[in-house]
Amino acid sequence: MRHLDEYRDPLAIRSVLSRIEKALVRPATLMEVCGGQTHAILKFGLDQVLPPKLRLIHGPGCPVCVTPLEQIDRALAIAATPGVIFCSFGDMLRVPGSHGDLLLAKARGADVRIVYSPMDAVAIARREPSRPVVFFAVGFETTAPANAMAALVAMREGVRNFSMLVSHVLVPPALEALLSADGCEIDGLLAPGHVCVITGQEEYETVSRRFGIPIVITGFEPLDLLSGVLAAIEQLETGRACVENRYARVASAGGNAAARRVVGEVFEVCDRKWRGLGEIPASGYAFAPAFAAVDAERVFGLEDLRVDEPDDCPSGLVLQGRLVPTRCPQFGARCTPDHPLGAPMVSAEGACAAYFHYGRTAAEGEEARA
Ligand code: SF4
Repeated sequence: MRHLDEYRDPLAIRSVLSRIEKALVRPATLMEVCGGQTHAILKFGLDQVLPPKLRLIHGPGCPVCVTPLEQIDRALAIAATPGVIFCSFGDMLRVPGSHGDLLLAKARGADVRIVYSPMDAVAIARREPSRPVVFFAVGFETTAPANAMAALVAMREGVRNFSMLVSHVLVPPALEALLSADGCEIDGLLAPGHVCVITGQEEYETVSRRFGIPIVITGFEPLDLLSGVLAAIEQLETGRACVENRYARVASAGGNAAARRVVGEVFEVCDRKWRGLGEIPASGYAFAPAFAAVDAERVFGLEDLRVDEPDDCPSGLVLQGRLVPTRCPQFGARCTPDHPLGAPMVSAEGACAAYFHYGRTAAEGEEARA
C-alpha cells in the first residue's frame, strides 16, 4: 500500500474536493472513459462527495462489455469444434452469446481454459501440437502489444496449431462517435491513463481540438481521478480546451514507441462493431494479411457470421453514458452477476457490475449528493 497511500490520502482528497467546489460555477458533465475508473469512483464513493452541479457519466471503456455478440458467437462456435482448445481470460467466460456462454460450453464438454497471458496459450499450443489452440484476444490499445507479440512468436517459431480470435477496439474513434452523436451532453473527458501509456496523447489532442472540449489523462486512484476532475473543471470555467496529463508518473506524451511498432507489424486498423454502439469506422485492429495463418476467423471460416444484438439489455445506452445502470429495468431483478443479461453486469470493469457490487441504487446516489 506504500505506493498507493499518497493517492488515497484523506487530507489531500479533501483539499482537491474543496478546490473543485470553488472552481465549479456552472453545471458540468464529465465522462470517465474507462470502466476501471468507474469502479474506482464507486468503490471510493467519489460520486457521493463531488458537488451536485458536477455530473460524472460512465463511458465505453470496458473491452469485455463492448465485444459484440457475434464475436462471442464466433468464440462459442470455435470452442465447440472437436479437438479445439479455446483459451481466454476468465471474464469472457460468462459473457452471454446468442445461446449460452463459454462456461456453459465448457460444462457441455468443450475444452475451454482460462489463461493469464496470450503467451500461456502459445505454450499450450507447443505442448499439444496435434490440437488447434485458439486465444480470444480482446482489449483496447493496452493489451494489443502483448497479443501482437504472441502472434509474432507463434509465426516465427512455426507453431502452426495456434491462432487468435481478435476483437481489439480503439478508444479515440469511439470517443469521436460519442461526441458526434445527437444530444451528446459531454463537456469534458477523463481519458484512460493505461491506454495513453501505449498510445501517448496525440490522438486525444485531435479529439480535443475537433470538439473543443477538455480531455484530462487520468489514473485510477481517488486523487488521480479528483485531480483529473479539477483540471477539466478549471479548463471549462476559464474557456480552455486542451489535453492535460494528470497521470504523468505512468503515461508520457509520446507513449510507448516499441509497443506501437509491434502492433503496427501485426495488426492493421479496421472498422469494428461494438456491442450496443454498432459499427464504428477505423475503431479496431485486425490481423495484417501476412498474419492470416494465425487469424482464427479465417482459419475457422467465420468471417461472415452476423448476429443482431438482443433487445432485452440496453447496454448500448449504459456504454454511451445515457443510462445509469440502476435505471435499467432489468438491474438487480432479471439481471445480476449470477444471471447476467449483458456484458456490463459480468465484466470486472462493467458499469452495471460496479453499481451492483458497491450496492448503489439511483436514489441512494442522488440523496447522498443532495
Ligand atoms: S443491468 Fe443488465 S440488462 Fe441492464 S444494461 Fe446492465 S447488463 Fe444490460
